Amino acid sequence: MPESQLYGPPQPAPTPSRPLLGITVLVVEDSRFACEALRLLCLRSGARVRRADCLKSARRHLRVYRPSVIIVDLGLPDGSGLDLIQELVSAPSRVPVILGTSGDRFAEHAAIAAGADGYLPKPIESLAIFQEAILTRLPDERRPVSLNLPTDELIRPDPIAYQDDMAHAADVLADIEDTKALDYVAQFVGGVARSAADEPLARAAEDLADARRNGRPVAFFAAQVAGLVQTRLHDRQVV
Ligand code: CA
Repeated sequence: MPESQLYGPPQPAPTPSRPLLGITVLVVEDSRFACEALRLLCLRSGARVRRADCLKSARRHLRVYRPSVIIVDLGLPDGSGLDLIQELVSAPSRVPVILGTSGDRFAEHAAIAAGADGYLPKPIESLAIFQEAILTRLPDERRPVSLNLPTDELIRPDPIAYQDDMAHAADVLADIEDTKALDYVAQFVGGVARSAADEPLARAAEDLADARRNGRPVAFFAAQVAGLVQTRLHDRQVV
């Protein structure tokens, strides 16, 4: 048992077992599945969590609140998280810790170039990696006195959050107005499917993204993604 539990009541200050106590994390993320993972990691660490699902709602939130930590997904429905990171970096009152996140393994460089303090590759499921990414970048006075990172613990988001993401993808697919929406849905579905280890859907999303990149006809690939999304919605089965 940690010393803090042996002597006296729990303090509001951070402790080794709740190293992010007193910290508020704003998660800017359009995937419920990814957001649910971050929510569990925050709770497990003692941090409060707030969520914005697009750039617009993040900017609205930031006009009123100032979190200690912001985690910005790079692929958002109304634009790139990189733009938000750039704004945050040059804001007069800077959020102390700015982290980028993405399911795209080549996105780290772009996030750091935009000014992010660090980067969390998806899926984010390791408590130790999550806590270390934040704690090593917080000002000294916000860190617990002794930092014993726990033996690693993996979190697994609720499958319902995956269903929510499938419903979101189905909505976007049902109402595709332009190629931008198609690009958004390809990267959204691809990212979520990879995070949930849903290989067939991840492959179909990658095929769609490839077709877009290479200027090939997309109807077949879009229909394939839409079909798999519908299957997951109807079966209520998650890998
Ligand atoms: Ca996203």
